[in-house]
Amino acid sequence: MIMVAEALDIILSRISVAGAERVMLDQAVGRVLAEDIVSGLCVPALDNSSMDGYAVRRADITALPTRLRVVGDLPAGSCWGGVLGSGEALRIMTGAPVPAGADAVVRQEVTRRDGDRIDILENEPETYIRFAGEDIRPGDRVMARGSRLTPARIGVLASIKRSSVSVYQRPRVAVLATGNELADIDDRSGDGRIANSNSYSLAALVQENGGTPIMLGIARDTPGDLRALFEKGLHADIIISSGGVSVGDYDFVRDVLHDMGAEMALWKVAMRPGKPLAFGMIGHRPVFGLPGNPVSAMVSFEQFVRPAMRKMMGLATLFRRSFTAVADEHVATKAGLTYFVRCRVRRESDGYHARVTGEQGSGILMSMAEANALMVIPASVGDVDCGDTVTVQLLDPEFDMSAAHQF
Ligand code: AMP
Ligand code: MG
Repeated sequence: MIMVAEALDIILSRISVAGAERVMLDQAVGRVLAEDIVSGLCVPALDNSSMDGYAVRRADITALPTRLRVVGDLPAGSCWGGVLGSGEALRIMTGAPVPAGADAVVRQEVTRRDGDRIDILENEPETYIRFAGEDIRPGDRVMARGSRLTPARIGVLASIKRSSVSVYQRPRVAVLATGNELADIDDRSGDGRIANSNSYSLAALVQENGGTPIMLGIARDTPGDLRALFEKGLHADIIISSGGVSVGDYDFVRDVLHDMGAEMALWKVAMRPGKPLAFGMIGHRPVFGLPGNPVSAMVSFEQFVRPAMRKMMGLATLFRRSFTAVADEHVATKAGLTYFVRCRVRRESDGYHARVTGEQGSGILMSMAEANALMVIPASVGDVDCGDTVTVQLLDPEFDMSAAHQF
């Protein structure tokens, strides 16, 4: 059996970065740049005032108060053609270009106006001028390919007047369920069949991670039905199925993928939950046959599909944030398997603690829903005792790392 890290290597080595597409700037937040951005502009374009006040020549301000003659009024957005002479001041608003001849702006708060005269009451050290190019100069490489577009970067792109950018495509991920025992969620027959929850949890994971899910529905456990649905997935960038990958009599996923010409690279991974895992490539398209049990399917997605999607999207960080926490209870393990234990991490005065969220059966989805992290117990570690330090993989991006309970 293959260890988790090895399986991840096998998968990631086959994943390449997606193609690029152009998106309008107002649709670009969260996307990953597929181009370097070099500014063609100077930001700010002109020296301009950072305060409402008066543009002056500094050398004029000698004894206080200094009296100057107001030669004009300059609202933001307008320009004054003249050159400011000695003994003169120009009324100026924030954002208006500083006129030639002036070398400082005096804030309105330190002046007193008297008709077309002002008295300057204080000599402030600041010039209150935002100089042309102090933020960005033409030719500056302001962002590198692979950068994630945060709101601040969107602002920078707007300030250099880029209305669209080239970003990596979001992977389209075909999601199919397998199993004769499954009923779709709108099936009201009441015959006790199991609701197809995997398609929904997996599609939600795809969406949460920036992909576009394509729901293919439920395949019956026959090679023909499975193949028909997998073939529909060939329009997608990634195919994920759940169920039908163990050793049961009706577990045909691997055979079907093989018959479709997939290069199969994995079958089983030494982990719990999630041991059965079929992974292969149909052409350039990765196919993940995830296990059927609802928690196993999600945990396998987290460990393998999510990093693959992130690599495709051009992201530099592929993995969830992980850190250490104190285990609040004993966790029994079986030798040779890496465990992913659903837990809730919280911050205490002595650091992070992790408590198991309950029953760890691979069908118990509630303990996954209650979890904000997975405790990762490598195969080499064995049982965890109460008080042991363990690694936790944070599932909840909203978790406040700093929120100690004494606050
Ligand atoms: P399998 O590996 O196909 O035998 O699936 C294992 C178990 O996972 C099945 O007995 C089902 O109870 C459950 N299962 C499989 N597929 C789904 C699904 N799409 N939604 C919810 N449970 C599922
Ligand atoms: Mg099945």
